[in-house]
Amino acid sequence: MQVISDIQETRHMCQQWRAKGETIAFVPTMGCLHAGHLSLVEKAQSLADHVVVSIFVNPLQFDDIDDLLNYPHILTDDISKLSDYNVDMVFAPDAKSMYPEGEKVVEKIELGEITTILEGAQRPGHFAGVATVVKRLFDTIEPTMALFGEKDFQQVMVIKRLVEKFSLNIEIIAMPTLREPDGLAMSSRNTRLNDNERSKAAEIYKILSSVRTALYSGCHDYAELEQQAYDNLQKAGFVTEYVVIREITTLLPPQTQSNNMVILAAAKLGKTRLIDNIRV
Ligand code: AMP
Repeated sequence: MQVISDIQETRHMCQQWRAKGETIAFVPTMGCLHAGHLSLVEKAQSLADHVVVSIFVNPLQFDDIDDLLNYPHILTDDISKLSDYNVDMVFAPDAKSMYPEGEKVVEKIELGEITTILEGAQRPGHFAGVATVVKRLFDTIEPTMALFGEKDFQQVMVIKRLVEKFSLNIEIIAMPTLREPDGLAMSSRNTRLNDNERSKAAEIYKILSSVRTALYSGCHDYAELEQQAYDNLQKAGFVTEYVVIREITTLLPPQTQSNNMVILAAAKLGKTRLIDNIRV
């Protein structure tokens, strides 16, 4: 497994693979790897000749400077975790090489409405930052396919929109959310929860699951279900940003009695912001 920080070297190695007709599966991450990330890596191995994992904490996608400063950086641990897998290359650039023009003056990629609702409304500029870094990573690696987790459900839709906008020849593969035994979605940010917060954190999944149960049992009063879920999150100790039932293809409020929905939530426990979702 090669660990490379240089963009040209990375580009050159990927070009050589492609010239031989070999396929590349790409898993972009911000490091602090857990089993959720590794499930993407494992899937990538099963799909392509080569696997590239990037580790880059992208300053452009943080709307909150404290969140960026507190984001865990453990590159050596991450590399040792990846060395148990058949990863060909870890691409770990620094911000200067990703944004040679300077972070403050980067022209960000805007992708329209999907980037302005839910996470986009709570974190202005977040998805423009995501789209911009992913486009640069795609341009460097030119993968055959790229894998993303449905834990970040809206992000997957944003990436698909990016691929569409630039007519990129990259298959986007969405992978299910890996959870802790109590149901909490695995996340690098979970390491920031104290014991008390951790003991409450799985409530977010339980509350989303109870909304799904209500939908399955024929309740179609979406506004009432959302309100109950909001109240339950607050009672469980969260400061809730949103908990909503949305159409799976647009993330807009469903037409009455849709069968294709997703329930999404974002809520803070102390200083830690958690997001989760489940398909209906
Ligand atoms: P991040 O390092 O948080 O940017 O995540 C890198 C990739 O891993 C993204 O595509 C995430 O959606 C995905 N991911 C994060 N957590 C999980 C999880 N619990 N299960 C599956 N994929 C995940």
